[in-house]
Amino acid sequence: MSNSEWLQRTLGAVWHPCTQMKQHEQWPPVPISHGAGVWLYDFEGHRYLDAISSWWVNLFGHCNARINEALRDQLERLEHVMLAGFTHEPVVRLSERLAALAPRGLGHCFYGSDGASATEIALKMSFHFWRNQGRPGKTSFLSLANSYHGETLGALSVTDVALFKDTYAPLLREAAQVPSPDARNGAPGESARAVAERAAQALEAYLAVHHQRVAAFIVEPLVQCAGGMGMYDAHYLRRAREICDRFDVHLIADEIAVGFGRTGTFFACEQAGIRPDFLCLSKGITGGYLPLAVVMTTDPVFAAFYHDETSRGFLHSHSYTGNALACRAALASLDIFEQDGVLDANRQKADYLSARLAPLEGDPRVRNLRHLGMIWAFELADGGASPLRVHEEGLRRHVLLRPIGQTIYLMPPYVICEPEMDFLADGLWGVLQAL
Ligand SMILES: *Cc1c(COP(=O)(O)O)cnc(C)c1O
Repeated sequence: MSNSEWLQRTLGAVWHPCTQMKQHEQWPPVPISHGAGVWLYDFEGHRYLDAISSWWVNLFGHCNARINEALRDQLERLEHVMLAGFTHEPVVRLSERLAALAPRGLGHCFYGSDGASATEIALKMSFHFWRNQGRPGKTSFLSLANSYHGETLGALSVTDVALFKDTYAPLLREAAQVPSPDARNGAPGESARAVAERAAQALEAYLAVHHQRVAAFIVEPLVQCAGGMGMYDAHYLRRAREICDRFDVHLIADEIAVGFGRTGTFFACEQAGIRPDFLCLSKGITGGYLPLAVVMTTDPVFAAFYHDETSRGFLHSHSYTGNALACRAALASLDIFEQDGVLDANRQKADYLSARLAPLEGDPRVRNLRHLGMIWAFELADGGASPLRVHEEGLRRHVLLRPIGQTIYLMPPYVICEPEMDFLADGLWGVLQAL
């Protein structure tokens, strides 16, 4: 079968996500036959460098031999068993290992499937905790301007991206937003730390008035990814932790995108030295293989549900909660982190790619060039180009880019090597020339 045959069949049968399907008349989806490392191959032998890790999930390349082998082994033992009333080896091992890696004291793992399900779990759990504590009036949630926490109705309520949210506004719970510490919001000459402090003061002022009704404040630590890779100073997280403690409000860290080494530390919260009350993980957790999400929480939260009365328990579930294959992929991925010293290796890779991208700094088409860990981003100067145009020019140069508005970003798999980084940097440069 050729690319064009798969294209015709997909347009006839598959409704693609996050897509105005009519735009596929001009920008058709790319049929992928197989993957290897950072490369995706179509049915006619063309390859594309996956510069965005397939929506930020892939860590160790496509068709990674070690993850494949672990999954083959798991397939011969157990593919899945319901996690209510049962348990299994991969889910126990994964929970123990995550607890050892996360900020101390997050020893209870509750599983879901996609990232949005982790957001839903954290929100419901926070509300239910307060209810069990005799404070049923804590029914609202707070999030940051320009935040993203997923597309299901609860998650969308705490999301602040107009394009995804406005249409569904009549269906959503009210949730307030406080100013974002995004360094791009700075006045000329204002430091990232000063922007963070200014945003923290706004949070403080909001909670001083509304804390009795607020169950939790949810944040994406260090990088608001879907909001255009907005990066901010860790000072904000330290202040948010202290303010939430003072006002009896839970702090939910949504590390669905930034967890698992993406910002340079294993978890982004480490850079602020804080422990959230809930830590939401998904995306990279399985190395980009299978859907899996987890919400990690503390002894006090767990204890508030532990009771003779059934309804005081957390009765939430998804059919595939704690799927054995997904947990096994996650374990194989954690093995790679340990065995290959991935965080150290990534620092060297990041230095290399940053040096290759340095010429962008002075380019008049480029604004706010920034970098953290294995994320690079910049905005196209005013009157830039449509994201689809950038995508198209990227494909022409065998690089898979998917800009967010005027933000072009790179979030490559960690297995990228120096010649591949050269290819990526050259491709990006070529795209800029072509716009
Ligand atoms: C992607 C993302 C989600 C939603 O995860 P899905 O798996 O797409 O449901 C939630 N929060 C953040 C920060 C994300 O980047």
